[in-house]
Parts: sequence; C-alpha cells; structure tokens
Amino acid sequence: MAKKLTGMEIFKLLPKTNCGECGVPTCMAFAMKLAQKNAELAACPYASDKAKEVIGAAAEPPIRLVTFGSDISCGNELVMFRHEKTFVHQTAFACRLPSDLPEQTLADRCARVREYCVERVGEQLRIETIMVDDRSGEADAYVSAVKIAAGSFTGGIILKSVDPQRLMAAAEVVLEHKPLLFGAAAHTVEILADFAAAKKLPLVISAPDPDGLFTLAETCMRKGLRDLVLDIPGTDAASLLQYNTMLRKSALGGIKSVGFPLINSLPQGASPFDLVADASSCICKYASILVFDALDDEVLLPLMMLRQNIFTDPQKPIQVEPGIYTIGEATPASPLLVTTNFSLTYFIVSGELESAAIGCRLAIVETEGMSVLTSWAAGKFSGEKIAAFLKEKNVAGDYTNRRIIIPGYVANISGELEEQRPGWEVLVGPQEASDIGPYMKRFAAT
Ligand code: SF4
Repeated sequence: MAKKLTGMEIFKLLPKTNCGECGVPTCMAFAMKLAQKNAELAACPYASDKAKEVIGAAAEPPIRLVTFGSDISCGNELVMFRHEKTFVHQTAFACRLPSDLPEQTLADRCARVREYCVERVGEQLRIETIMVDDRSGEADAYVSAVKIAAGSFTGGIILKSVDPQRLMAAAEVVLEHKPLLFGAAAHTVEILADFAAAKKLPLVISAPDPDGLFTLAETCMRKGLRDLVLDIPGTDAASLLQYNTMLRKSALGGIKSVGFPLINSLPQGASPFDLVADASSCICKYASILVFDALDDEVLLPLMMLRQNIFTDPQKPIQVEPGIYTIGEATPASPLLVTTNFSLTYFIVSGELESAAIGCRLAIVETEGMSVLTSWAAGKFSGEKIAAFLKEKNVAGDYTNRRIIIPGYVANISGELEEQRPGWEVLVGPQEASDIGPYMKRFAAT
C-alpha cells in the first residue's frame, strides 16, 4: 500500500494558486479535505500528472476492489473493526452446487437460490452467487452443469475445479457472466493466471498458508493479473478466523501481495448450529465471499440478518423517508402517532400497528436515522422539532382527533410538544413496540 499522505504533503503537490474552483477557497483547505478523504483530486482541474500519480496511489484502498458477475463487488475494505469507519462490501453468500447432481436437481437448486429472498427493514436479502463445484471428473459433464447454472441463475457464478483445462473450458462458455475462477494452486497458477488475464476474469488463488498465497499473488501480478481473491482452506472455524485476521492485518499494514478479498468455504455436513456459528465468525471477520451448502431457513435467516447488521454503515443508519404514513383504514378521526425515521423503528412500529388493525396515521420525523432515545439525546426528537415537522407536513385542520401519541421513552417531551401545538393533546404511548397493539385497542375503546 502506498504511504498515507498528510495534508501538508498533499498541499506541496497542488498548484497553490488558490483559485477556488475545487469548491474550497484555498489549496491548503483542499489538501486537508483530500487527506481526510472528504474530497476527490478530480475536483481540481489544475492538478499535475505527478500529483495525480502520487495522490492517486496513496488513495488506493489497501484491499483491492474485485468484481464479478453482473454486480458482485468484494474488497475496498479499509479497517479492522467496523466501528473505526465501516465495512464496505458485504460478504457475498455462495451456494455450493456439486456438478454431479442430476440435471433436474441442479436446476431446482439454482431456482431455490434465485428465488430465496428475505425482506427486512425495507431491504431484500438474497444469496448472490452459485459455486459450481466440479465433481464429475469429465469436462463435458462439468460444462453442462455450468450451463444449467448460468441459464437459470442471473447472479454471480463461481467456477471451481482442480483441473485447469476443465475450468477454462467451462469459463469459455459463460464468459459473458464474468465468472470468478476458483482456483489456482502452486502447480496451476501459471496457466490459470495467463488465462484469467487474457479473458479479464478474476481468479481465486489457493494455498495452505499466507506465505503460499504471497508467492501465488506475486506470480499473478507479474503477469498483469490483479483481480485476485485469496483462499486458505482452513480446517475449522478457528483456523479460518486466524488466517482471515492475519491477512486483513497484513493488507492494512501495507503488504500489497495480500491486499485482496478473501473467500471462505464452510465444510459440508456440519449441523445447522455449527454452520451458523462458523459462518457468523467468517462474516464478522473478513470473509468477502462465503461458500456453504445449506439452503434452510434455520441457517440462512440468522446469517442474512447478521450480515445486514454488520454491513450497515454505523455512520449512516438505515432510514425511511420522513413523512406521514397511513396505516390501515385511517380517517380524520384516527389517532396520530409519532416516531423517528430509523428503519428498524419504523418497520417494527408499523408492523405492530398493522397487526392491531386500527386505522391511524404515523408521523415519521427526520432524525437522520437515529432511534428514539438516541435522537432525543442528540436533540433531534424534541417537542419543538416534532411540532415543526408536523407544521411542515400540514398536520392541522383535517385531523378531527387532535391527539398525538408519542413513544413512552420520551414522555418528558410531552409538555414541550403540547406548548408547541396548542389545541392538541399529547399522550404518552408504550415504551416497547410489543405493547402497541394492546395500547391501541384500549385507545380505540375510549
Ligand atoms: Fe488549488 Fe486546485 Fe483548488 Fe484551485 S482548484 S484552489 S488550484 S486545489
């Protein structure tokens, strides 16, 4: 990895004319923004070629971005721990497809992967890739399995074979899918690196330890192939965790030859409990691609939710659009509830209201995606802010039921809100979403 440049080092490379065309008044201010990664050098039209080369190299992420399929992106990671900044690209889930399965079973399994979808807090969570694992031992049989996968699955395809000839033959028939080739070992790296470089395909390199990966990566890079994914076939979750951590740390420490995304394969035949435990460790600790067999909800559901939580940018909580949402058959006499625009809050509260089957309106206040207590503590969910939001949304004359229900956790803002909304009564709702249904039923009965 190129050395991280300080603001002063960047400033020395800029034109120093202070023309302001980059959007800040001086070159020094622009240099500081570049150092903090809050600006792109392209914003300065007068940057020299040398500045572009030096600053561009320093801005390269320590872990290379590798893409395959139509839209699978891995890498570009910057930190060891999510709370330091964020994890950039979520772990892509890959379902293993043994090529020796009967044709109909292959097609059914592909369809199951394609159609698997869990909706949570407004996002659709899916399995992104299929790994066609060469088990047939014959080129024709493997190619035919790959064709079935490519014909029925539009996501990313990973081709895995220990035989480079079979791997290349299969890749030739699905080139337009931009498959990920898995993988090159010490005795096959030369031929596969040449092929991948010529076809512009990413390649998994596989070695028993980091030193072996380092050597394979150097060979590939000498041949001009830089789109690499690293595989150390760990014997258990503990060894995968150890290697993943070692490789991430080395990459962030500047060792370019291991600055690539990681792929982990979980063993077949593990119990659902072990599978979830091992997969969780890989998701939290640096697997860019995770290969497993299970397609059962008891395994997929917890992993999908964990992945969504880990890869949500902690600086940008998942948000819903602020506004007034109608739940059920709302009339002017229906109650008005208020909460924040943190997605999880919205979906839980709206779900409870829908279950209660009492028409109402739900005011979702702009709180930059923070939850109720956090936004209250940050001054974004005060009586004054809520009143201003309701005024902006024209919540007034057509509401004959002039009562606002606020979350129980912010009972202390009820007086302030009443002062800001003369003529309206503010009621304190429950603290827990699970109590909303009974509360609304009691409310409707009054
Ligand atoms: Fe300096 Fe370039 Fe910004 Fe002009 S556009 S102030 S030269 S950094």
